[in-house]
Amino acid sequence: MEACSRGGGPLGDDPADLAAEYNIVEIFHSVQGEGYHAGIPHVFIRFGRCNLRCEWCDTDFDTFDVMSALDVLGEVLKFPCRRVIFTGGEPMLNDLWPLQRLLKARGYNLAVETNGTVEIPEGLMDWVCVSPKDQVYPNVTIRQRTGDELKCVYVGQSLSMYDELVDGFSHRFLQPLYDESATVEANGVSFALTEAVVKNNPPWRLSLQTHKWMGVD
Ligand code: SF4
Repeated sequence: MEACSRGGGPLGDDPADLAAEYNIVEIFHSVQGEGYHAGIPHVFIRFGRCNLRCEWCDTDFDTFDVMSALDVLGEVLKFPCRRVIFTGGEPMLNDLWPLQRLLKARGYNLAVETNGTVEIPEGLMDWVCVSPKDQVYPNVTIRQRTGDELKCVYVGQSLSMYDELVDGFSHRFLQPLYDESATVEANGVSFALTEAVVKNNPPWRLSLQTHKWMGVD
């Protein structure tokens, strides 16, 4: 892949884009473990900060480094992979246009995983996955009401809470809550509950967090 130099770059990058700053928890290459693209390798850019505090959240999004877009780009370019997932934390708390322009200029496919509380500008992403947290934040407004994938953690909530959202998405997934500190039996109960709900509520599909079973990020 092409090198990236400071003060412009080989593709005529805007210096303002290269200088944009982001709070970055980590950047890593792994296989997407859940949802529509499960099994496909991606580069994950995990952003710091979130506007929610879900009880099951497994990300230390308050610990991050401030990185320039140039440095983020340099890290992403190290991996032999042209698919990127913006995740977090809540990635949409950031202005992602500078990174979007830098990565699209290099042919990357861009996806975002968001809690949906921030509306996503048209054309920013190739794939939008909204994972609303209504089951713990019923009073939080979901502003991103369309996209490619609706992915919900199932903790016993009524699916009727998504009635006004589902038509805006091409694919919908229910995901059992997987607690890495719980016993196999306890997680099995959660899986069985979700499986039963999916069987009775097409076109919801089951999504499993396979990366957690594999012990990878
Ligand atoms: S919205 Fe996502 S990142 Fe934010 S606290 Fe909830 S699970 Fe964690």
